Amino acid sequence: MARSDEFFEQASALLGTRGLTVDEDLLEPWLTDWRGRYTGRAIALAQPENAGDLSKLVNLCAHFGIPIVPQGGNSGMSGGATPDASGDALLLSTRRMDTIQSIESGSSQVTCGAGVILQSLHEAAEEKGMRFPLTLGGKGSATIGGLISTNAGGTQVLRHGTMRAQILGLQAVMANGEIFDSLTPLKKDNRGFDLKQLLIGSEGTLGIVTAATLRLLPALATRRVMFVGLDRITGARSLLLHAQREVPDLLEGFEVMPRHTLESVLAHHPGTRDPLSAAHDWYALIELAADEAGRDRIDARTEAFLSGALESELLSDATIAANETQAEALWHLRDGISAAERALGPAMQHDISVPVEKMAEFVEYAQPEMERCFPGTTAVAFGHLGDGNVHFHVLAPSGAVRGEWEEGQGAAISRKVHDLVTEWGGSISAEHGIGQMKRSELGRLGDPASLFILRSVKKALDPNGLLNPGKLVPAEPA
Ligand code: FAD
Repeated sequence: MARSDEFFEQASALLGTRGLTVDEDLLEPWLTDWRGRYTGRAIALAQPENAGDLSKLVNLCAHFGIPIVPQGGNSGMSGGATPDASGDALLLSTRRMDTIQSIESGSSQVTCGAGVILQSLHEAAEEKGMRFPLTLGGKGSATIGGLISTNAGGTQVLRHGTMRAQILGLQAVMANGEIFDSLTPLKKDNRGFDLKQLLIGSEGTLGIVTAATLRLLPALATRRVMFVGLDRITGARSLLLHAQREVPDLLEGFEVMPRHTLESVLAHHPGTRDPLSAAHDWYALIELAADEAGRDRIDARTEAFLSGALESELLSDATIAANETQAEALWHLRDGISAAERALGPAMQHDISVPVEKMAEFVEYAQPEMERCFPGTTAVAFGHLGDGNVHFHVLAPSGAVRGEWEEGQGAAISRKVHDLVTEWGGSISAEHGIGQMKRSELGRLGDPASLFILRSVKKALDPNGLLNPGKLVPAEPA
C-alpha cells in the first residue's frame, strides 16, 4: 500500500467521513485566500472535533511527514491559511471546534472552541448582558483561533487593546502532539515564561489553537456615533487628541478614511449614502460609548466635545447618528472598505504602523511620494489612526493585469513602502500578520536579533517544520 493510502486509511479511521475529505469540490473554496491573491493545493481537508483527535492526527502527520496548514475562517489578509502549490500539505480546519463551553457573567469570562466565529461570540456575550471588546470587518467569518493566531486588532484597540489583551487562557496542540492547556486562568502564575504568549500571533507555525478563555466586559448601555469631515489627516490627529483629553473614558473608536475610499465604498455597497452634504478630503468616524453609570451624561458630554472642537476650529462639518440604525449605517461605511477596495482592481495592501504621534505626518509624506515614484498609481490610507496603524493601499494604474502587476511593479511598490515604514521606526505588519505575503520582507528588514530568536523558537518547538511551513518565519539566509 502507498504511504499516502496508509495515511488516509488511518486518518479516516480517526476522524470519520465528516472529519476528513479529499473531495475537490469541498476543498476548493478553502484553497484561495480571502483577497484572492494566493491559491494552493492540499492532499485533504481535515476537520477534527476536539483537541484529543487533533493530537492523534498531528502524530499521524508527523509519522508520515505531512505538513499541516491550520485554517479558521480564511479571512486572513496575508495568505497565512493558504497551502503552497505542491499539494503535499493537509489543510486543517477548526470549523467543527465551535462550542462555547462556558460563559459566565460572574467571572466575566468565556471559554470556547477555536472555531467559534467572532460574530457568534458577540451574540452569546450579548445574551448574557456582556460584550467581547474586539471587533473587525471580517467578524462574520473570522474565528477565535484565527484571531488569536494573528493577534488581530480591529476598531476597538484604542480602548481595549489587541486580541492578546483579551486572552486569559489557551489550549493548543503542539507539533509533537502534546496538548498545552492553560485554559483555567490564574491571576498570579510565575512558573517561568508565560507560554501562551508565544502562541498568540504565531500564525499556526508553533501550535494549533483548539480553545481559549477570554475576558468579557459589561454590555454598553448606549453609544453616540458621529461622522466628521476634515481637510487633512493631521487635522484628524488633532481631533483625536481633543477627544482623548475631553472624553477619554467614552472614546470607543476613532477611524479615518480619505474621500477616495469613501467614494469607493459608496460605489460598491448598494444602499449606502454620503453622510455629509459637502465633500471633504478626509473623514473621521468616532464612537463614544457609556455603560449604565455614564448613560445619563453621554449627550451632554458629546455636545461639549463637539462644541469644544468647533470652537478650536478642529472641525467644520459633522453628523451624529440619531439612532442605532444610523449608527450601524455609519459603521458599515468603515467595515465595507475591504470589500470595496478589492472590487477596484489590483492593489498592493500594506498594514503598517509607525509611532502613534507620527502617523498623520507619515501619511502626508508617503501618499504623494508613492504616487510620484510610481506614476498612474493612487495611494490611499485608512483605518486606526489612534493606534498608529493605517492600511496603506497603492492601487494599480488603470489597465494593469491582476496577477502580473503584483509580481512586477507591485513588488517594487511594497518594497518602497516597507523601506519608508522602517525608516520611520515602524512595523510592516501592524495587525494582519506576516503569512506568506510579507515573509521575505521580514527577512529583508527584520533586525538580526529578532530573526535569530524567531528562527530558534520555531526550530525548538517544530524541529521538522511540520506546522504551516513557508509562513511567518523567514528562511535562513543562503
Ligand atoms: P484564517 O484566515 O483562517 O487564518 C489566519 C492565520 O491564522 C493563518 O496563518 C492560519 O494558519 C492561522 N490559524 C487560523 N486558525 C488557527 C488555529 N486555530 N491555530 C493556529 N493557527 C491558526 N484583521 C485585523 O487584525 N484588523 C482588522 O481591522 C481586520 N479587518 C478585516 C476586515 C475584513 C472585511 C476581513 C475579511 C478581514 C479583516 N481582518 C482584520 C483580517 C482577519 O479577519 C483576521 O486576520 C482574523 O484574525 C483571521 O481569522 P480567521 O479565523 O479567518 O483566520
